[in-house]
Amino acid sequence: MKQTPHIKVLPEFVANQIAAGEVVERPASVIKELVENALDAHATSIEVRVEDYGLTSIAVSDNGVGIEKDQIPLALERHATSKISETNDLFNILSFGFRGEALPSIASVSRFSITSKFIHSDDAWTYKGEGGKNFRLEPAPANVGTIIEVKDLFFNTPARLKFLKAKRTEMEHIQDVVVRLALAHSHVSFKLINDGEEALRFGSAQGDLLEDTLPRLSTFMGRDFIANAVPVNLEREDMAIRGFVSLPTYNLSTSRRQYMYINNRPVKDKLLLGALKNAYHDLLHTGRHPACVLFIDLPANAVDVNVHPAKSEVRFKDGRDVFGMIRTAVRNVLNEHSQEVSTTPAQEALSRFKVGTLPNQQIKFTDAPEPQKPSITFAIEDDATPLPTAQHTTTDFAPAPMPAAMSVRESSASFSLPPERYEDERAAQTSRESFTENPMGAAIAQLHGTYIVAEAENGLIVVDQHAAHERLVYERFKKQILTGNVARQALLIPEIVEMSESDTERLMNRSDELLQFGLEIEQFGKTAISVRATPALLGEVNAKQLLQDIIEDVRNLKNATTVQEMIEEMLSTMACHGSIRANRKLSIDDMNAILRDMECTPNSAQCNHGRPTFIQLHKNDIERLFGRR
Ligand code: ADP
Ligand code: MG
Repeated sequence: MKQTPHIKVLPEFVANQIAAGEVVERPASVIKELVENALDAHATSIEVRVEDYGLTSIAVSDNGVGIEKDQIPLALERHATSKISETNDLFNILSFGFRGEALPSIASVSRFSITSKFIHSDDAWTYKGEGGKNFRLEPAPANVGTIIEVKDLFFNTPARLKFLKAKRTEMEHIQDVVVRLALAHSHVSFKLINDGEEALRFGSAQGDLLEDTLPRLSTFMGRDFIANAVPVNLEREDMAIRGFVSLPTYNLSTSRRQYMYINNRPVKDKLLLGALKNAYHDLLHTGRHPACVLFIDLPANAVDVNVHPAKSEVRFKDGRDVFGMIRTAVRNVLNEHSQEVSTTPAQEALSRFKVGTLPNQQIKFTDAPEPQKPSITFAIEDDATPLPTAQHTTTDFAPAPMPAAMSVRESSASFSLPPERYEDERAAQTSRESFTENPMGAAIAQLHGTYIVAEAENGLIVVDQHAAHERLVYERFKKQILTGNVARQALLIPEIVEMSESDTERLMNRSDELLQFGLEIEQFGKTAISVRATPALLGEVNAKQLLQDIIEDVRNLKNATTVQEMIEEMLSTMACHGSIRANRKLSIDDMNAILRDMECTPNSAQCNHGRPTFIQLHKNDIERLFGRR
């Protein structure tokens, strides 16, 4: 006979272990809960001490208000919390905790002790147990505040241990948790110690949240971020968003450096991350991510934080509003700073320059009339190819001819220029006088048929002509599309492009949209398409090549792709076709036209793929290179 199943109430410690599965994923999640509790207890100093990356021991001590003796055992009971008492409070949550689940959950999967001295009490107490059982309360010496120790995490749930990653990864998670909380609480000092070694330390600061956050940001994110970040500050009715976002040219391969807060609570919410991504949509290549720290303030009742056990996701009363505000705030500052380029590439370039010596410096010359004076050259540092200098010190041989690129032109008078070069040189002279005050300066030369070299008031500018022009065409194109004014250029003889039946069908399905871009196509039998007109803005294009790339775009369009994303994808494909290639010779006038165009085009500091379109070497840096500073 079959036994009828009996419904039983689970023993409390089993229920706790189940809850632990949600709240306590890894050492870092324990630390998150404990530090949040300390912050809720108004601590101004918090120390996190871990051993073996949190696996053998985690101890969090704080100087908060502490817990009264008879409340300590209560804190370890499920759903015991001092933070809310009515359901109504749930919709007005300002503290981190409220579920009363963390401590019992953590205690059920570790050897746990809590020592606390309440602010209005003379003595301190310790309460400890193992696996959520056998708790006992004993007197203990301690200062006001609370110390929670979690030893041998997951000792009684070995399956969980297996889910842990390499120790270094766990440590990164721990740091991440501490930093996330520390960034939003600049008046609290934080210390993180691993195996006796200090891993992080933030002193406390008083004053404006944003200003106070800066030193912590630069310690953690690096000075590079600070140098390449722009402030965001937007207030609207009862919402506010403040913080820093990176310039598009400063981008990373992961989204790990995106710190977002709702009412000072760190969150990793899809809606927020989506809004950020959207703000950078056509400024970054897929797979590249901006960095940011954004504090978003909303009325407590506009957001529900009780949707995720670890409370890192939230639900908004009006998600669209929040999305729109973040997108707008970020996009606006990016537009304002759209002609700035990240300092990092220039710095990198600079650090690759080094003072070298000519190979012939210490060489005895056989029959050179006069040894050349030792002079300074720049050698590009390259790990793979050591400079020849050192090896040549004792050999007897004639000086090697200087590579052309290194030779210094003594006086331009000794050069006779072919007529058109002379014209160019004259144009350069006039433009140099009239344009050096412009932000992008005056074109003075083209390098390797690919880069425009310009002289600006405060330094040297090198523009990647293809990347820059691509951006210019893209932005102009976008403007035309937004105003519905895309000019078409009819082809005298329509171009027939052969392709597979499925591609033909795919493209024809999009023919209306393509027409809006100025690309007019018609079906030509089952396996070909005839191109009748192309976007005028692109000038003369290779229609076949363009169509092939568009097919690629159409193929890659996923169901989830929004119309906006599709437009951007196609725009950038087309812009790429319409722009000046590398290796095309440009006159000084052409180059100046591009520079002037860049000055008045939004987002001109980066191409559609987030690469910089130009780099700058500040006059000070040039002087530094020559030791004049
Ligand atoms: P919650 O934070 O959701 O209330 P927890 O299980 O994290 O639940 O904590 C239970 C209770 O224990 C808290 O409500 C609080 O009263 C008390 N507590 C926990 N940690 C501390 C601490 N560091 N200082 C003071 N009180 C604490
Ligand atoms: Mg808590």
